[in-house]
Amino acid sequence: MATALPFPASRLWLPKRLLVTRSALAWDHGCAIAARAGALGVDVVELPTDRLALAFPDDPRQAYAQAKQTVALTVASPAKRRLQPIAPSADWRVDLAEGCPAHCSYCYLAGSLKGPPITRVYANLPEIFEELPKHLGQGRVTSRSRARAHEGTTYEASCYTDPLALEHLTGSLSAAIRYMGAWEADAQLRFTSKFASVEPLLALPHRGRTRMRASINPPAFARFEGGTSPVAQRLTALRRVAMAGYPIGLTIAPIIAAAGWEAAYGQLLTDAAAALADLSGLDLTVELITHRFTPGSKAVLDRWYPGSALEMDPAARATKRTKFGSVKHVYDADTMRALRRFFDAQLAEKLPAARTLYWT
Ligand code: SF4
Repeated sequence: MATALPFPASRLWLPKRLLVTRSALAWDHGCAIAARAGALGVDVVELPTDRLALAFPDDPRQAYAQAKQTVALTVASPAKRRLQPIAPSADWRVDLAEGCPAHCSYCYLAGSLKGPPITRVYANLPEIFEELPKHLGQGRVTSRSRARAHEGTTYEASCYTDPLALEHLTGSLSAAIRYMGAWEADAQLRFTSKFASVEPLLALPHRGRTRMRASINPPAFARFEGGTSPVAQRLTALRRVAMAGYPIGLTIAPIIAAAGWEAAYGQLLTDAAAALADLSGLDLTVELITHRFTPGSKAVLDRWYPGSALEMDPAARATKRTKFGSVKHVYDADTMRALRRFFDAQLAEKLPAARTLYWT
C-alpha cells in the first residue's frame, strides 16, 4: 500500500493588505474572501467605489515590494471572463485571479500583465464559471487531439496566477474543483503550482476532473524562485493529491541550461520518481518548457530583479518570431537538441509511465 510521506506544515503567504472594491462585496464569495483575510490578520480595506487607488513609491524596488504585498478583491469584467485559447497546455484559459505573491526571476507574468505587480482575486466566480459550458468541445488542443482527447475540453487555471498560492485566502480553486466535479461533461480543469499547501484540496469531490501539476526545477535553481515552496515539498504535495485520486503532472519549467544542468535535472527526475513511487493507478503527465524571454519581459524583470544571476542575454540566444511578429529569445538549436535528448532519455528511464504532453 502507498504510504503518505511526512509533510511539514506549509508556510502560508499573507499580504499586508486586502483592498476590497464595492462591487466585490455584492458577491457571497467576495464577502467570504474578505472575512477569511480578516480572520488571518490581513488589513482589510473596504473601498467606497470600484476604483483601486494605487499609489506606490517612485523607487522601483519599494514600489515592487509594496505591490507584491497588496491583494485587490475585485469583480472580473466581461473582457476578463472571456475565455482565451491557451495552447499547448489546454483548450481554454480561465482566470480565478491575476498575479502571484512569489518572486521568480523568470516570471512569465512580467510579459503579460501590465502595471504594478499586485494580485487581483475575483469575487464573481459564478459569472466566471458560466463561461465554461459555452466553450465545451470547442478548443483546439485537447478537444482536437487524438492523443489527448480523453482529457475532454480542458480549462487551464494557472496562466495568470498560481491559484494554490492564494487558496487559503480565497477558496477559489476549491470552488472551481467542486464545480468541475459536479459538472456532468467531458471536461477537465488544470492547474500547476510552485506551492505545496494542498490540504484544502484533498477531501474535495473532484471526481478526477482536475489535474494538478507540480511546477518543479532543481533545488540548485531555487534561488530564481523566491517565495515559493521548496521543491521537495511540492513533490510531496503532488503525491498527496495523487493519493486523493487526482490525476497529476509535472511541469518542468522553465528548463534552465545553466552550468551543471544535466546533473541537476537528472537528480530532479530521480527525486520526482522517488516521490511518486509505489502509487497504483498513477495518471501522470509531463510538460517540458525551456526558458525564454521577450524584450518586454526582460525589461520588466531587469527592473524587478536587478542583479539576478539568471542568464537573459539576447546575444546568447536564438531569436524566434511569433506569427504576430513579436520576438522571443530562446536557446539555440544545439542546446535545444541536447536538452530534448536528455529529457527524453531520462523520462523513459526514470518515469516510464509518464505521458509527455509537449516540449517547447
Ligand atoms: Fe510568476 Fe509562477 Fe513564480 Fe508566481 S510562481 S512569480 S506566477 S513564475
